[in-house]
Amino acid sequence: MAVKTTAFVTDKRFVRRARELKTIRVMVEMYCRDHHGAPDPLCPRCAELIEYAERRLERCVFGDAKPTCTNCTVHCYTADKREDVRVVMRYAGPRMLLRHPWLGITHLIDGRRAAPLLPEKPPKKSPQQPAPPDAAPASDPAER
Ligand SMILES: [Zn+2]
Repeated sequence: MAVKTTAFVTDKRFVRRARELKTIRVMVEMYCRDHHGAPDPLCPRCAELIEYAERRLERCVFGDAKPTCTNCTVHCYTADKREDVRVVMRYAGPRMLLRHPWLGITHLIDGRRAAPLLPEKPPKKSPQQPAPPDAAPASDPAER
């Protein structure tokens, strides 16, 4: 089955995401080859996993500020896909440095960057939670 190509690969703004997509593709291929004996094309499940990851990357709310998925504060994967990817990463992660040093190293470096938080979305007010300290009314200089 043909993997659809995406236009953003050539777009400079998406260089990091394009590399990340390449990283995950290489990792899933490695995992599939070693576990499912499917050299080319990938077994259906792994092919689906790559397609899924590709869609999530395209829609990532952080755009190019995207952290690596493990460090992300937003978990956009469904539980089962998240588990699938975790298993693949655990296997392929350490092997990346040997087989694809550049992708492996850049992914490690990316992983050390602080993950951005989503700016908007005010925290839900829950009665159990004490008000955060900065929510206390600040003394207003105009009143004094
Ligand atoms: Zn597979």
